[in-house]
Amino acid sequence: MPDCCIIGGGIIGLSVARELAGRGHAVRVLSRDSRRDTASWAAAGIFPPAPWREGLPPGEALTAWSDRLHREWARDLRAETGIDTGLESCGGLHLTGSESARPRLDAEVREWLVRGAACEPLDGRGVAECEPALAGAVDRGTVIGGYLLPEEMQMRPPRHLEALERSCLGRGVTLLRDAEVDSVEVDRGRVTGLKVRVGGVSRSLPADVYVLAAGAWSGGLADALGLRVETRPIRGQIALLKLPRQVLARVVNRGLDYLVPRQDGSLLVGSTIEDAGFDRSTVDAAIERLLGVARDLLGDIAATRPEQAWAGLRPGSADGLPSIGRTPACDNAYVAAGHFRAGLHQSTGTAVLVADMIEGRPSAIDPAPFRPDRPRSDAGPDAVAAYVARAAAEAAGN
Ligand SMILES: Cc1cc2nc3c(=O)[nH]c(=O)nc-3n(C[C@H](O)[C@H](O)[C@H](O)COP(=O)(O)OP(=O)(O)OC[C@H]3O[C@@H](n4cnc5c(N)ncnc54)[C@H](O)[C@@H]3O)c2cc1C
Repeated sequence: MPDCCIIGGGIIGLSVARELAGRGHAVRVLSRDSRRDTASWAAAGIFPPAPWREGLPPGEALTAWSDRLHREWARDLRAETGIDTGLESCGGLHLTGSESARPRLDAEVREWLVRGAACEPLDGRGVAECEPALAGAVDRGTVIGGYLLPEEMQMRPPRHLEALERSCLGRGVTLLRDAEVDSVEVDRGRVTGLKVRVGGVSRSLPADVYVLAAGAWSGGLADALGLRVETRPIRGQIALLKLPRQVLARVVNRGLDYLVPRQDGSLLVGSTIEDAGFDRSTVDAAIERLLGVARDLLGDIAATRPEQAWAGLRPGSADGLPSIGRTPACDNAYVAAGHFRAGLHQSTGTAVLVADMIEGRPSAIDPAPFRPDRPRSDAGPDAVAAYVARAAAEAAGN
């Protein structure tokens, strides 16, 4: 059994570590940042419905497979660690406030039905019946209709990460935080070691197999492996409100913005989608805009200062697919990065896929479309840029 060294202690790195350790590998995880400073911790934890069927496009197939695995992982993580990761089928409402947005909404309803998801179109009254806290917004004309996805789920990223970490430790994984990989040593087509600063002290760490799962920072380290992997950082800001009482049961989406009610009475309001480089700070104007979304939809009950606000950097990839697989130049190095807006959802399938590849086993889905050296789609539409542009247009009220 080869010893595995994983660069990255976000959800992707920890999930791969857990899967490999569960199969009997000796695993070490290196993470530069604390758990709280990862995109994984910062995320909302929304899982849109992802029914499985043959012939799904690759990204959807990975999500659908991962979705099924998440149910098992949540159960097993609870049994192993006692932590409830908060995975629940709460349902999701998708709203519109303008007649001009109707065609887009109708097209989305058709798409969900084709995908095999339960989806119920709603007029304003239907929205208010579903979520009485939105009745005021319907009366004001802020919401004129939408649709319900009863199978939409949510989970609690900080709890899931903690459970993953504990499960990893229970399976014998060595987890080094404050461990920054400076460089990758390559000799004759193999990675022979990593130069790592652990707590400020430089050391060389050897292993048999390496997995690069460093989120938005993966692109830089992939260069050393002779590989061009795009993991452009795309900032997402979120605000957390503490309401006097919980008023929503479902996730409420309006365009790219959303409200996520937690069972403890808190409400997440997210999120921005911005190309701001490696800047993880929050911006007052952006948080104010998000709070405006909450007030627009819920009225005075949401007119409160946020208890917290934070930002994370999604690892964007131009063609919208993560890179998962062996690097062509080094036969003992693998990449698992670039999951953009779906890294939590796709984490379980990614972990199993990577472990299957390392062990030379076939997987439940075809890994070929995720090859890290697939032709870059420079000439094709840029999926990340399209999201950034749409988010900017929505924020400007267009
Ligand atoms: C606001 C927001 C909301 C989101 N909502 C959702 C959602 O609802 N559903 C969903 O599925 N996804 C969501 N996402 C996306 C999801 O969070 C990401 O796709 C996912 O977290 C990426 O995980 P990761 O492990 O690749 O990266 P990260 O979580 O960023 O982890 C990267 C790890 O690599 C380490 N690292 C980096 N460089 C080095 C180095 N040189 N040496 C050592 N370690 C290094 C870091 O310290 C860190 O541990 C959201 C993201 C954001 C920001």
